[in-house]
Amino acid sequence: MTTVDHNIIDNIRRVSRQIRSTAHKYQRSADDIRLLAASKTFPISAIRVAYAAGQRLFGENYVDEAIEKIRPLSELDIEWHYIGPIQSNKTRKIASHFTWVQSLDQGRHARRLSEHRSGLPPLNVCIQVNISAEATKSGIAPHELEGFAESISSLPNLKLRGIMGIPVKESCFERQRQAFAKLARAYNRLKNQGYSLDTLSMGMTGDMQAAIAEGTTMVRIGTAIFGQRQ
Ligand SMILES: *Cc1c(COP(=O)(O)O)cnc(C)c1O
Repeated sequence: MTTVDHNIIDNIRRVSRQIRSTAHKYQRSADDIRLLAASKTFPISAIRVAYAAGQRLFGENYVDEAIEKIRPLSELDIEWHYIGPIQSNKTRKIASHFTWVQSLDQGRHARRLSEHRSGLPPLNVCIQVNISAEATKSGIAPHELEGFAESISSLPNLKLRGIMGIPVKESCFERQRQAFAKLARAYNRLKNQGYSLDTLSMGMTGDMQAAIAEGTTMVRIGTAIFGQRQ
């Protein structure tokens, strides 16, 4: 194995340890926090190494790049999550190659994904929620969440699992927590309305600890596992 391979293995162990220790610190069970490896721009070989180290959830952002990896790795027991912006003309490919889509924020995409998913098990989806409207475009506003969730529920081949959020980059821990607390409130509001959800996807390399403090159930980690993207 190469140095890069060893680093990926060490990195996964370190991130997993950090998840356990941070969960403990905030009186949470680490079993309630899944680790998704965000593998965009990294080669198949890196994914194989991570898989050999026990990693099973992988997230990709670019459809065509993703399919080039998903096809040759189809014999592996990987749960593939689409986490990038959705384009209408890619919904068929997304629906047929992924089992999860975390970046759903438009009704027309939801309808197309459901259509293209017929004959397969339901596609697991998270609604992307935008709690920093002025800084980013992706995601729906928290006040639109209820209506959007309701429209998704009527689609036969989608299964709503929860919400996903990407707060703007912020280095202050307390401010990171405030952003994640907003997402957690949106998630809990939906649950209180009777939706049975299990996924609050939030936290990346730079803010994983704050996300754990605020109740994340899935952290999406790229840099801390695979290294800097070029
Ligand atoms: C790239 C990416 C990540 C991982 O980001 P890192 O900062 O490298 O950990 C997580 N979520 C989404 C949606 C991404 O695009």
